[in-house]
Amino acid sequence: MTDNVLAYYRREIAPFLPPVVLDFHTHTWSANDWKERPWATDKAGGRYMVTDEHYPPEQLLADGRACFPDRVYEAVCFGYPTPAVDWEKDTAYIAAAAREHAGLWPLLLGGPALGVSRERYEQALDAGGFHGFKVFLNWYGDAYGDTRVEDMVGPAELALANERRLVVLLHVPRRGRLADPDIQAGVRWLAAECPQAKIVLAHCGRCYLPAEMKAAIGCLRGLDNVWMDTSMVMDPVVLQIALNEIGPGRLLFGTDFPVAAMHGRRVRVHDHWVDVVAPGYPPSAYRVAGEGYQAGPMAWEIVLAIRWACELAGVSDAERAGIFYDNGKRLLRRET
Ligand SMILES: [Zn+2]
Repeated sequence: MTDNVLAYYRREIAPFLPPVVLDFHTHTWSANDWKERPWATDKAGGRYMVTDEHYPPEQLLADGRACFPDRVYEAVCFGYPTPAVDWEKDTAYIAAAAREHAGLWPLLLGGPALGVSRERYEQALDAGGFHGFKVFLNWYGDAYGDTRVEDMVGPAELALANERRLVVLLHVPRRGRLADPDIQAGVRWLAAECPQAKIVLAHCGRCYLPAEMKAAIGCLRGLDNVWMDTSMVMDPVVLQIALNEIGPGRLLFGTDFPVAAMHGRRVRVHDHWVDVVAPGYPPSAYRVAGEGYQAGPMAWEIVLAIRWACELAGVSDAERAGIFYDNGKRLLRRET
């Protein structure tokens, strides 16, 4: 990064971060553990989010340190949650990553479509030090169809998550996102089925735009075991709406590395998000490369969105710091 770009970090980003940053949504993987490269197939959605074929934990931690050079960086991490994944290999890869690197908190891919028995889950949870489940996505791209939350989490995952007070990180399906009434009913069902679990909705329930969050947020009122991670959410208004409705204790900073390691910003154009990025990244859906302006990592834009939302919603410095560390740490310690 150039001196100018780093000076922006020191001036606009760093003063709003606590000493340790816990990133609650990151990936690490090797394509050697996949059955196919989604974008090398002609399957629908295969070119939705084209990314690196290998993203080892060393690179994840290097990206974290590059983004937050004067802070300690820790990350909740999980594998590649699409039909391409080989569950056994992915599980071994994530467990090894967490064993070999301090500051990585692993999640296990889980979902009935994987066909994993309760006994096998228990072995993996015990042996790998996993803190919960990343719910498996049984589709590519944005082909969300009529999938229901009730189809994505089965009896084995529900029972283990409840008994062990595990994190359940859920990427909600469907075009309507968390604003879809069936998805809202599904989240309420999940919260009631495993009241001891810590349910985290990835990407703020996929509400990247203010209209989506405004239509969605009411469903979380009164759900004490549901949180949202901020990965790839870069619109301060989205987070301001969330803070006003459910308060700062329910938000967890997340990036979605490797995606948010790209330089640029996710913006709203008409009724969809578009990733405006620096040149050199592979073509992907809703990704537009441009030059002639300065850009830093998208992770910074997420920090900036939290910063401005907190200021506008009257959130204290201590509560804002909680979004970046304490809120998530409490879930990992099974304290809440
Ligand atoms: Zn992700």
